[in-house]
Amino acid sequence: MTRFIYLDNNATTPVDPEVLKEMVPFFSVYYGNPSSPYRLGQEAKQYVKKSRIALARFLGCEEEEIVFTSCGTESNNAAILSALRTTGKKRVITTATEHSAIYELCVDLEKRGFEVLRIGVNASGLLKLEEIEKHLTADTAIVSVMWANNETGVVFPIEQIAAMCQEKGVLFHTDAVQAIGKIPIDLSQIPVDFLSLTGHKFYAPKGIGALFIRKGKQFEPFMRGGSQEMHRRAGTENVPAIIGMGKAIEILSQNMEEDNKRILQLRNLLESRILEEIPFTKVNGDKEHRIVNTTNIFFEGVDSETLLFDLDQKGIYASGGSACTTGSLKPSRVLTAMGLNPIEAKSSIRFSLGRYNTEEEIHRAVDEIKKSVEKIRKKLPKSS
Ligand SMILES: *Cc1c(COP(=O)(O)O)cnc(C)c1O
Repeated sequence: MTRFIYLDNNATTPVDPEVLKEMVPFFSVYYGNPSSPYRLGQEAKQYVKKSRIALARFLGCEEEEIVFTSCGTESNNAAILSALRTTGKKRVITTATEHSAIYELCVDLEKRGFEVLRIGVNASGLLKLEEIEKHLTADTAIVSVMWANNETGVVFPIEQIAAMCQEKGVLFHTDAVQAIGKIPIDLSQIPVDFLSLTGHKFYAPKGIGALFIRKGKQFEPFMRGGSQEMHRRAGTENVPAIIGMGKAIEILSQNMEEDNKRILQLRNLLESRILEEIPFTKVNGDKEHRIVNTTNIFFEGVDSETLLFDLDQKGIYASGGSACTTGSLKPSRVLTAMGLNPIEAKSSIRFSLGRYNTEEEIHRAVDEIKKSVEKIRKKLPKSS
């Protein structure tokens, strides 16, 4: 039996042992700088190339279209800031449910005189597409829409939005951090201009990400320095992490479909048992257009922080929203955008499953969630 039950894979994932094994020699044996001309450096460079090829194959793009970055946040910032510089335009269209790595950037852009338009979602968390269409004018620098939501798992129709942007000649970026490994992606078929991803959401280490930049699209880095990544991302490559991410991608290429089938079954087991056995619960977000590993559940009359604390004591890890916003007392931006009131938003919990969860864990977790919810509800003067 494991020490704890980890149901927060949208916050981060453990490093796959195979990934770790692949990385180790690059700390101490092949530790050269890929920019060094001698053999030790050139060997490192060859391995970095191998990872780049693996990633390009997985995404259906070309090797030269991949730029390694430090994380998803950096990739997101790089894409938006570049678009503003290269187009000289002042307008960004995004959504009300983006991760803070886009949302907070846009708040800052507004302070600096840029115009940001946030497209809303309906009660199921689905995007109001006609709103994008209506506002998609030629003076827009870039449209940025996440592929899958980190809190609800709701998937946006990226194919359609990308096509709309292409038609209007407007750049399109997608934060695909939660889509990688969960949704098959083929960039040779979808006119996305920029795409962000990060390793630690698919069993590679933290601190490594990538930005896809479509060939022929202008790009201006915000960070200046060396000529790494074909002048698109200065700074010495994080070689061990790049190797790790390459291996993690290879594993996905082989096991993604099978893993997702299993994870979907476990997620559905968790969800159906909670809905059936715990009264006054419901799922937040569209159940159909959703990544396989995520469920966001409203527990009426239960303060999510109290429930999460109780589960934490039992070694069960879930989340009240995005890991990047916990600790703030504000209700989830994503859930309130869907029309939940602050109390409802603060009575909701996200469970996100991963490769290492077992059926036994899910049953144990539900048993404990049930007990915790009952306990918390009993303490209330009277449930509303
Ligand atoms: C985790 C996450 C990010 C941030 O990635 P980092 O590598 O932690 O910077 C961005 N977008 C989404 C949707 C995420 O889930």
